[in-house]
Amino acid sequence: MGGRVKPGHDAEAEIRTVTELTHLTLAEARDGLKAKTFSATELTKAHIQAVEQARALNAYVRETPDQALAMAKASEERIAKGEARPLEGIPLGIKDLFCTEGVETTAGSNILKGFKPPYESTVTRNLWNDGAVMLGKLNMDEFAMGSSNETSAFKPVVSPWRREGSNVGAGTSGSIEGTHLVPGGSSGGSAAAVAAHLCLAATATDTGGSIRQPAAFTGTVGIKPTYGRVSRWGTVAFASSLDQAGPIARNVRDAAIMLRSMASPDAKDTTCVDMPVPDYEAAVGRGVKGLKIGIPKEYRVDGMSPEIETLWEQGTAWLRAAGAEIVEVSLPHTKYALPAYYIVAPAEASSNLARYDGVRYGLRENGKDIVELYEKTRAAGFGREVKRRIMIGTYVLSAGYYDAYYVRAQQIRTLIKRDFEEVYASGVDAILTPATPSAAFGIGEKGSGDPVEMYLNDIFTVTVNMAGLPGLAVPAGLDAQGLPLGLQLIGRAFDEETLFAAGQVIEDAAGRIALPQAWWKA
Ligand code: GLN
Repeated sequence: MGGRVKPGHDAEAEIRTVTELTHLTLAEARDGLKAKTFSATELTKAHIQAVEQARALNAYVRETPDQALAMAKASEERIAKGEARPLEGIPLGIKDLFCTEGVETTAGSNILKGFKPPYESTVTRNLWNDGAVMLGKLNMDEFAMGSSNETSAFKPVVSPWRREGSNVGAGTSGSIEGTHLVPGGSSGGSAAAVAAHLCLAATATDTGGSIRQPAAFTGTVGIKPTYGRVSRWGTVAFASSLDQAGPIARNVRDAAIMLRSMASPDAKDTTCVDMPVPDYEAAVGRGVKGLKIGIPKEYRVDGMSPEIETLWEQGTAWLRAAGAEIVEVSLPHTKYALPAYYIVAPAEASSNLARYDGVRYGLRENGKDIVELYEKTRAAGFGREVKRRIMIGTYVLSAGYYDAYYVRAQQIRTLIKRDFEEVYASGVDAILTPATPSAAFGIGEKGSGDPVEMYLNDIFTVTVNMAGLPGLAVPAGLDAQGLPLGLQLIGRAFDEETLFAAGQVIEDAAGRIALPQAWWKA
């Protein structure tokens, strides 16, 4: 671990120290702060510098260095008084879907430009109450709709990862398309920032895979908790019955530490459970001895790449070697999950997004009357993908189609939920699947002609949201081109602890996968 940042002008030593401080894990940083090896201000300044040097990645849409330094100073005062809190002095990035009081919150959309929430989301409030430091707001797909971060009104995030042998750097001319890779989405800024060491961990949200897929694409760890574990209050809504916030972090332990602080009962969100938050970190290292891990045969989808298949087998072998019993299980309604999700999610989105009318929030385009004001504002404010979802959602909810689509999709949702219930009733503790059907793809490579091509990314993740269960993505290896691949662990409702325990076994067995080269540095 890095030594104390020394005053003086030795530029090289300083750069090394910035790298050292930003390459700590959250747990290491916490211990270093406690041992006074470095101060919260030093740690924060190192991250501010890293963020400034990485603008080529477009991970942050808003940097808040002044706020970060003020928060770090407050942390130092509490540390000096012996009043350190669980995340004292830890610099974090915040997905732009979380309302932050007085700090512009746009959900990746033009329609929210200029919106400064008069309140703080429960998740971010919990983090600040635990002493964390905000570095800024992270880029994302518009209203969290997407799998590549390309639907953001603030331009795509560039993944810190590159295919082996590709020489595209920050200073290289030429188009971003086809050369740079996507970090995944919708929490692309969160995943890229964690992978590129631009924060120690980040908040993210997951409606159909938006925490797990970008985590898998960037070699980071992400967990979507059980529906109701984390409050949705103050988080911009996409599909309310599926949305759940969780962390993206550099390893399993850090994700456990983050989730403990993010989660809380909350009277302001009626779907949030009134259950104490376990000490998730205590579950890390518990192992999998005696646990029963299910391998669902329906996830062996047609055309699955041999690389993903090998990864999955490898993960199974690791868990078996650590003492778990492996059983084949069946989730027969899996194949209906994706089409059902793409009815339920847009239906809820079309209703949630009705509030952006140019009167209450953000952007306003004036018209000759109120109707024209609505039309002009929504036409100018929403991007293509969001408009597509609103149209699909409105269609499936309209009289005459409601029974044919929406009701059917809800019935399928019940069947998917029941599939999982039966597997868990048979004594299975967790389920292991691939996190994504492939490694990261290039910017502009997918979905421009046929949106379904992009939707297929969510094939392994949407079932988990439909059933309201917890799911963890953990890096498990690299593909032939040197890009990260992840595995997914799906747990019983409110049993995130087993996911952290099993995730740690995979992380240990996989060993530390290589880090992306810092080619983006300005
Ligand atoms: N990719 C999925 C979608 O576009 C899921 C997004 C999410 O989880 N927020 O809807």
